[in-house]
Amino acid sequence: MKQPVLAANWKMNNGPTAAKQFMDAFLATYGSRDDRTVIIFAPAVSLPAVAGALGGRSDVLAGVQNIYWAEKGAFTGETSATMARDAGARITLVGHSERRHVFGETDEQCAKKCAAATKAGLGFMLCIGETIEQREAGETERLVKRQLREGVAQIENLISVDFSIAYEPVWAIGTGLTASAGDASAIHTVIRSELRDMIGTRANEIPILYGGSVNSSNAAGLLRAPEIDGLLVGGASVDASSWLTIAQT
Ligand code: PEP
Repeated sequence: MKQPVLAANWKMNNGPTAAKQFMDAFLATYGSRDDRTVIIFAPAVSLPAVAGALGGRSDVLAGVQNIYWAEKGAFTGETSATMARDAGARITLVGHSERRHVFGETDEQCAKKCAAATKAGLGFMLCIGETIEQREAGETERLVKRQLREGVAQIENLISVDFSIAYEPVWAIGTGLTASAGDASAIHTVIRSELRDMIGTRANEIPILYGGSVNSSNAAGLLRAPEIDGLLVGGASVDASSWLTIAQT
């Protein structure tokens, strides 16, 4: 059995001061654990506060929510993978549904970001998932396979790359609607099988997380499903005490 990955996506919450307070409160109670990995996807400006609070701890990782694919240059407002790493990130989210649907990010742009992260030595967690319209039209499987294939299309030698997948149905993000463990597992099985087709048995080691209105009440039930390797949590991860409960699930 793989160790669970519990990932917090703070979205645009917890600036540097709040991030330090969160980390101090969380780490005061969350003792070092080797049976799970915790990731805190913080806003880029809060990375030094998160990484600084962690010191050398390797069971909790600082992550960034987004990167740009170029290394440097005239891209006002953007953060490169190398810069995020320098600020303390070990991993980046790519293709979160808010990036895709609020900012219009495409599969091709996700592919560039995954490739840039890999080149800079940053792990990536590629987010994929369908809208309610796509679900009702029976397009979920075809869509997640496409998002997966196209998202990693620019990576050479994917088999040796550090990455994970987050299945996040768009209709479940921030809505209070959660996919049932059974529904999520069915799509995780499709994703795993596509990964096997792409990288053989190495696919068995790639964590596939579920995200979408996870909270301290439903986390344990979702994690019990054998196909769900971890959880990506938005709203319920912003507050340290709620996150502590989920991280200890
Ligand atoms: C997310 O931001 O990835 C997410 C799943 O949000 P929420 O938990 O609030 O639905």
